[in-house]
Amino acid sequence: MLFTTNNRLSVLFSVFALAFLSCISSIAQAETPPNIVVIFCDDMGWGDLGCFGNPTIRTPRLDQLAHEGQRWTQFYVAAPVCTPSRAALLTGRYPIRNGMTSAKRGVLFPDSGGGLPSAEITLAELLKQKNYATGIVGKWHLGHLPQYLPTTQGFDQYFGIPYSNDMDKTGGPGYKAEIVKDDSYYPETAHYNVPLMRNTEIIERPADQNTIVRRYTDEAIAFIKANQNRPFFLYLPHNLPHIPLFASPEFRGKSARGLYGDVVEEIDFNVGRIIDTLRELKLEKNTLVVFTSDNGPWLAFDTHGGSAGPLRAGKGTTFEGGQRVPTIFWWPEHISPSVQHGLGSTLDFMATFATLTGSQIPNDRKLDSYDLSSTLLRNEPSPRKEFFYWTNAELHAARLGPWKLHIKTREPVNYSKAVVPSKPELYHLEHDLSEKHNLADKHPEIVAQIMELMEAHKKDIEPHEDMLAIPLPKP
Ligand code: MG
Repeated sequence: MLFTTNNRLSVLFSVFALAFLSCISSIAQAETPPNIVVIFCDDMGWGDLGCFGNPTIRTPRLDQLAHEGQRWTQFYVAAPVCTPSRAALLTGRYPIRNGMTSAKRGVLFPDSGGGLPSAEITLAELLKQKNYATGIVGKWHLGHLPQYLPTTQGFDQYFGIPYSNDMDKTGGPGYKAEIVKDDSYYPETAHYNVPLMRNTEIIERPADQNTIVRRYTDEAIAFIKANQNRPFFLYLPHNLPHIPLFASPEFRGKSARGLYGDVVEEIDFNVGRIIDTLRELKLEKNTLVVFTSDNGPWLAFDTHGGSAGPLRAGKGTTFEGGQRVPTIFWWPEHISPSVQHGLGSTLDFMATFATLTGSQIPNDRKLDSYDLSSTLLRNEPSPRKEFFYWTNAELHAARLGPWKLHIKTREPVNYSKAVVPSKPELYHLEHDLSEKHNLADKHPEIVAQIMELMEAHKKDIEPHEDMLAIPLPKP
């Protein structure tokens, strides 16, 4: 009898102990916020991945992520060129709010003296609330002077180039601007005197861009390994496939798409190396990986530029080809696998990552960020219903549900030229993906509604100093 009672007690004790342990472990899990990896390509078009319909570029690793995660088909960057697009991703604010878009200059250049204002709160600074390790590997392009480098904006460490890979042109022997778009042209590193930096120091100049995708990935993997026991945020903005196109020897001449395809296939392979590392370290179930691009394809460079697929125009324009980008979210056992047709934007990373990590978004400023977590985790409809298309400090267009109204556009290839249509143009993007059929005359009530929305949005913008027009201080 006594023996039996003891047995029962011991069984009961074991049950309680197990329940207690599982309770402790679920609290511990809940207290471990997810790692976040954002892989951000440069000038990759909506139509450049296999899983977005490209017929000749092979992207098996990204296609697999799309299959296991969520592929977003109506996902936007907040500007059609590099600098303002990056400012928006990191701050959750349209760049007009912080002077990171300009009527005078599209982006920052080596002779620029401005950058992202230090008062802005970046994703890295947000995640510091939760003691994340924060690393950036790749192209910064938010100011190359010491007061604007990533280490002043919440990043513990930086390895990469401070602006675009075609800047600091030397025009040395063999360089001809007009052959950059020729199919037979392979650029030389020496023609672009771009610095490679570690934190605040230049460690290589010109950066050897032939191997840069692999080297960025090596650096990213080292960062993941070094921080595997604490939450980390890795921002990996590749500077390719922006022209000039470079590929490692083992990828050159391999893609049916030519050199541009070689570059994208090398990026795909290296995304795979990051996923393999997460799996080896058993971090994949606690790591959200996002893949997207900073703007559409640079059409002026012919086949050296990418493809926006069925979308109209490309980089530098507020047509869909300029701002709708191929986007994948992956987080095994958390992200609900699906194709998402709702609206989303890199602007939304701020509110979404805050929810997923238990951080507090800034409440002392206007944000343009929607929390997409319920769509990612539970397939609920995206909360984003509108989007504003700004470029060069001007509001060109707005989207409301399926409708998009243009009040101004840009030349599709020579995008430095603005075009003002005699009347606003209205497109139904879900029926007319390529913005071909202007319905403004048929739906004046929708034109009026979106015009009103644009006016209200403009009134909501505080003026800010133009950070892109500031020249380099004289030595
Ligand atoms: Mg770009």
